[in-house]
Amino acid sequence: MPNTVLLYYKYVNLPDPHAEMSWQRQLCERLGLKGRILLAEEGINGTVAGSAEAADAYVAAMNDHPYFNGISYKRGESDRLPFPRLRIKVRSEIVTLGVDVDPADTATKLTPAEFHKLVQDPEVVLFDARNKYESAIGRFRGAVTPDIKLFKDLPAILDDYSDLKDKKVVAYCTGGIRCEKVSALMLQHGFKNVYQLEGGIIKYAQAYPNGAFEGECFVFDDRMSMAFNDQPELLGACRLCESPTNTYRNCANPKCNDLILVCKTCAEPSAVLCPDCTLDANPLY
Ligand SMILES: [Zn+2]
Ligand SMILES: [Zn+2]
Repeated sequence: MPNTVLLYYKYVNLPDPHAEMSWQRQLCERLGLKGRILLAEEGINGTVAGSAEAADAYVAAMNDHPYFNGISYKRGESDRLPFPRLRIKVRSEIVTLGVDVDPADTATKLTPAEFHKLVQDPEVVLFDARNKYESAIGRFRGAVTPDIKLFKDLPAILDDYSDLKDKKVVAYCTGGIRCEKVSALMLQHGFKNVYQLEGGIIKYAQAYPNGAFEGECFVFDDRMSMAFNDQPELLGACRLCESPTNTYRNCANPKCNDLILVCKTCAEPSAVLCPDCTLDANPLY
């Protein structure tokens, strides 16, 4: 039986995130769920995995909770548990932008169906609010894909896109959490006509597996990516031989640990070194 993976978030004012952390820990431990949960005064951001029954019980308990009710979950499957352990932390933000924006001032949300209609319009600009290594293996056809390594790098480069300020722009990310902040930030920066994709790539591509999303969706667990149809486009290029691929591995040099795109053939040895480490004068083994 495959494991169920739940991805979710909610912007909600939590007066005592540490109390919620204890509640989450007890619940997840009782249900045998593994994963990562971040709590802050602005809300919750989580991805947990376990049996289908445990996932259902988690959702039911959350829906009975005064702050965590009414969340729309993205569901996925994984043959093995994609998290080694359970980590629950309190942070200052549930996704780190580093700039003060009020998620209440966010842009209008488009449902997957509304988005699907809108992407037919060539005048509409799709703005990928994720990192470059994510858009490298999957993105909406024709999307703008900023060259950033971290979400908090986005505010500094946003004005590079000032030519889009009068256009109709739709921001998207994996599950929607980042766009709530990015679209608010875009409005602050004078973008006039901003929308966001509700539920992100995952909700859209699960509803339209052969729609406007190409490639695979990067995810932050051991699965590394999600495919939505049997033949996802291979948008990335192997760092070692340049063959098309969507497969990421971590460089086996512990000092490097960089994510590298590798094709099936190059990924065959159990440890893969990135080109920089391969050239390193000091062999590891
Ligand atoms: Zn290769
Ligand atoms: Zn390396």
